[in-house]
Amino acid sequence: MKLTFEYIELKLRHTFTISRSSRDVEPCIIVSLEHDGIVGYGEAAPSERYGETPETVIAFLKKSDLIHFNDPFQLDEILSYISELAPNDFSARAAIDIALHDLIGKKLKIPLWKMWGLNDHATPKTSFTIGIDSIEVIEKKVREASAYPILKVKVGIPQDKMIIKMIRKVTDKVIRVDANEGWKSKEEARDKILWLETQGVEFIEQPMPASQLDDIAWLRQYVNIPLIADESVLQLSDIPRIAGAFDGINIKLMKCAGLREAMRMIHTAKVMGMKVMLGCMIESSVGISAAAQLSPMVDYADLDGNILITNDPFDGVKVVDGRLILNERPGLGVTPKNPIS
Ligand SMILES: [Mg+2]
Repeated sequence: MKLTFEYIELKLRHTFTISRSSRDVEPCIIVSLEHDGIVGYGEAAPSERYGETPETVIAFLKKSDLIHFNDPFQLDEILSYISELAPNDFSARAAIDIALHDLIGKKLKIPLWKMWGLNDHATPKTSFTIGIDSIEVIEKKVREASAYPILKVKVGIPQDKMIIKMIRKVTDKVIRVDANEGWKSKEEARDKILWLETQGVEFIEQPMPASQLDDIAWLRQYVNIPLIADESVLQLSDIPRIAGAFDGINIKLMKCAGLREAMRMIHTAKVMGMKVMLGCMIESSVGISAAAQLSPMVDYADLDGNILITNDPFDGVKVVDGRLILNERPGLGVTPKNPIS
């Protein structure tokens, strides 16, 4: 199999701010994996929060010599090989995992959701993310998001209540809140969540830093709405450790290194009675369409990364009235808008 890749800067529709960072463009590396004239596509969206940059992804891809693998169906062997090569290069490994799955689906001429026996009518509605901004800009973004029935609002700053109060003046739609580790004291987190519960908030994502797991377990005793782990859970082996502190997990392909691990995490979380959410980074339609293939299995979806950009190089999963719409095309169901070299 021949691996090539291309570095692309995804341009954001609005400057994207969360509790720890702010940016206008987002790096993405598109991987093409060719075997017998068929090309599978994958994507890496590296996150500095997890120690990755475009440079680390490119260095990893340069040393990932897949030429001696001649059968893309040998997922276990190939993915074990790349995992041993660099276990912590999660998004880079995800790019190869996604490309292999796309290749397999194309060889079998079947969409992944169908290969896995899933119902394409059972996809959840995706939330639309509202980043941190001035009150005026947030109001504009909320009005622009009228097509999306669920908002995911980024908080974790002193003006949290002002943001939510303003949104509640504009709309009564479902709000999910993501603090991105922004609340540093457990009392502050408790008081804010108890107030958010009065505002019709459905759940809270990552209220406090991942390093403060004991504080989050304390917090859980005092609040009523679910706490969903994001920064606290990367891969399958994290789930038992955090199960006592959270009610659910946010799985992202870029954290867990791809679809194969994500599938294992979904099954494990369900067995443990935890809610499952599928999330994303800022990604093109390659990464989003990959995650969407699993979406009939989950409780919540936050797969809007491709909606937040203006130069998506691929066409794939669609969102209609907020719901994810899978297609009948093989593999991930994605097509490059222009030929990818
Ligand atoms: Mg999050």
